[in-house]
Amino acid sequence: MLEGILPGAEPVKILCVDDQEANLTSLEAALDGTGYKIICVRSGAEALAHLQEEEFAVILLDVQMPIMDGFQTARMIRKIERSRTTPVIFLTANYPSEHYALQGYEAGAVDYIFKPLNIDVLRAKVAVFVDLFKTKVDIKLLRKAEAELRKAVQIRDEFLSIASHELKTPITPLQLQMQGFMRMIETGRLETTSVEKLKYMLEISSSQVTRLSRFIDQLLDVSRLNEGRLSIQCEQARLSDIIRSVLEQLQHEIESSDCSVQLRLDDSIAGKWDRLRIEQVVVNLLTNAMKYAAGRPIQISTMHTDDNAVMMVRDQGIGIAKADHERIFGCYERAVPVANYGGLGLGLYISRQIVELHQGRIWVESEPGKGACFFVELPLSSKSGSFIILP
Ligand code: ADP
Repeated sequence: MLEGILPGAEPVKILCVDDQEANLTSLEAALDGTGYKIICVRSGAEALAHLQEEEFAVILLDVQMPIMDGFQTARMIRKIERSRTTPVIFLTANYPSEHYALQGYEAGAVDYIFKPLNIDVLRAKVAVFVDLFKTKVDIKLLRKAEAELRKAVQIRDEFLSIASHELKTPITPLQLQMQGFMRMIETGRLETTSVEKLKYMLEISSSQVTRLSRFIDQLLDVSRLNEGRLSIQCEQARLSDIIRSVLEQLQHEIESSDCSVQLRLDDSIAGKWDRLRIEQVVVNLLTNAMKYAAGRPIQISTMHTDDNAVMMVRDQGIGIAKADHERIFGCYERAVPVANYGGLGLGLYISRQIVELHQGRIWVESEPGKGACFFVELPLSSKSGSFIILP
């Protein structure tokens, strides 16, 4: 590998500052073949403009320049945050007197090179500072990787604690129901209990089991997505049928949430979609609306453009701040405190993957306190067959 290439395959940059074109040309020639990217400028002002924008490994700075000499330029270089510690090598024709050299070091020089240039000395000195710069870049990358790892571990720990809490929540009422049934059998009350009451108790148990299996399905989907194994099987389906089927599945939950669901469905909208996977998207959006807008009306409507079917799920709940509109579609991302609302932060992530597998889009429009409206756009004439997301 060339000495002048950074880990990300970017070349190391060297800034050469000299008012004489001929000197710049000889600097470039001297550093030819090193792989560095050489940027040449003819004044201190031009050098400062570059340093505001880019990071250089070393600055080769002529001392005798008109308007702003090398020492003045070096002092200004030290004031720019990005170049505060960038090594400056002064180029000078004068062998420095002690006073002269000191002036340079005070201005921020780390070394001198004398004209006429000795190419070997120049290359060797520059190489030392390039090595130093590369080490600094490596350390920066390592620190970044370490911070990312720490963040990942923290997210995993938070997720495990939320997940275990979420998985346990339906189990407690389920256990209580089962103990209730046992007592009814033992005390002979089963025979005297009305069928309606028994049905109601079983429905409650069944909704806890559904909740549990939904969590487990989400976990399985995430591992499928991570391994690139989530696929869809498309068949002709009507959007309003999909939505009505979800309402039937969630009937019990809708009733106990006290939310009314208003439908404005266009029965003519149909496309080649994976029916079960689109149902899953509707389930996620509707259960979220019930969770975050408890007791308030929810509206589900559909419409279409020439190319796309659009479904909107609108609620009048807590709403979502603009800064979170994109983030909540990420894996494990939540925008509410764990103490107030359960949830693994996976529903919208999985929904987006499913919609994107259909070549569609999903997004939210919302303001805090003013409810949320989730939009799902699906192509009407999607390429049929099966798609698979690769990680
Ligand atoms: P969760 O299971 O935590 O609800 P989701 O992926 O479904 O996970 O949602 C991610 C986050 O998006 C939620 O934690 C919540 O902050 C926010 N969110 C989703 N739907 C709504 C909604 N209808 N109203 C307000 N916030 C919502």
